[in-house]
Amino acid sequence: MSKLPIMERFHTLQGEGNFTGSSAYFIRLAGCDVGCVWCDVKESWDKNLHPEVDISILVKEAKESNPSIVVITGGEPLMYDLSELTQKIKDEGLQINIETSGAHPLTGEFDWICLSPKKFKNPLPEIYEKANELKIIVYNQHDFVWAQEEASKVGQDCKLFLQPEWSKEAEMIPKIIAFVKENPKWRISLQTHKYMNIP
Ligand code: SF4
Repeated sequence: MSKLPIMERFHTLQGEGNFTGSSAYFIRLAGCDVGCVWCDVKESWDKNLHPEVDISILVKEAKESNPSIVVITGGEPLMYDLSELTQKIKDEGLQINIETSGAHPLTGEFDWICLSPKKFKNPLPEIYEKANELKIIVYNQHDFVWAQEEASKVGQDCKLFLQPEWSKEAEMIPKIIAFVKENPKWRISLQTHKYMNIP
């Protein structure tokens, strides 16, 4: 039976990005080698601190939660071959989204790919054209320039989001609002789950 290292899994609402407000079952894989200085899930980095869980259990729990979407996240979920997990979730008729930095090869079948590139470890070039959503975390002023550079690499239909890094939120929200008014292809994404005190 195949297993994956799992930091946590839970049923909640998707707090950010294109599916904000949707009932979502999150599967957070453990392990990340990207090393963002502002990472808010640093406890996910070392996969050895987390249990390996049977894929069949993950799929069963996801199905029983009856969510609108299943979100595969991390850590960096593409450090693992996700083919079996995504196939089995699909077999249950559930929609599967992934949130990834794109720094590892894409495996598995997804209905929605949210690419959140990081300056600390660049995405592999092949993921840009497959991204349905580009989510840039805005930590400083240069991130607006970088966001435009990253947006030039994705397809025309890719949704573009700017999301303030949580500790810089008060400083960055007015800047993002001004940027979106000037650049209407972009939208702001807020971590609404943190306002609602949900996971
Ligand atoms: Fe943290 Fe995600 Fe960056 Fe990994 S890619 S360090 S989990 S924010």
